[in-house]
Amino acid sequence: MDCIFCKIVAGAIPSKKVREDETLLAFYDIEPKAPIHILVIPKKHVASLADAKKADEALLGRLLIAAADIAREQGLARGFRVVISTGAEGGQTVDHLHLHVMGGRQMHWPPG
Ligand code: AMP
Ligand code: ZN
Repeated sequence: MDCIFCKIVAGAIPSKKVREDETLLAFYDIEPKAPIHILVIPKKHVASLADAKKADEALLGRLLIAAADIAREQGLARGFRVVISTGAEGGQTVDHLHLHVMGGRQMHWPPG
């Protein structure tokens, strides 16, 4: 398996973990773009949001609820942003589904 996030799930690449359960893992982004920048990923390999199936509905819900829980735990009561880069034109650089949870500064629109 040549996927860096699968390697993080397996513990073959280290990460600074924020949360883990049987279906998902959250860890700090190695190149933070905000004071708080955490990635939430499914443990199973799903290449992108575009590859998610009907059977992944519950998993996607869990990822979003985890993102909101983590934002709360991180003290982002004033707001935060969740981003899912999808595909090359969507800016996705790691082909394993991940939610960026970003906060701690004012976000702008459009994100670029
Ligand atoms: P995207 O470009 O939206 O696909 O997001 C990929 C994210 O993964 C980027 O923000 C990278 O900084 C982050 N990233 C890449 N490798 C690692 C790693 N080993 N540990 C933590 N974050 C990583
Ligand atoms: Zn993977």
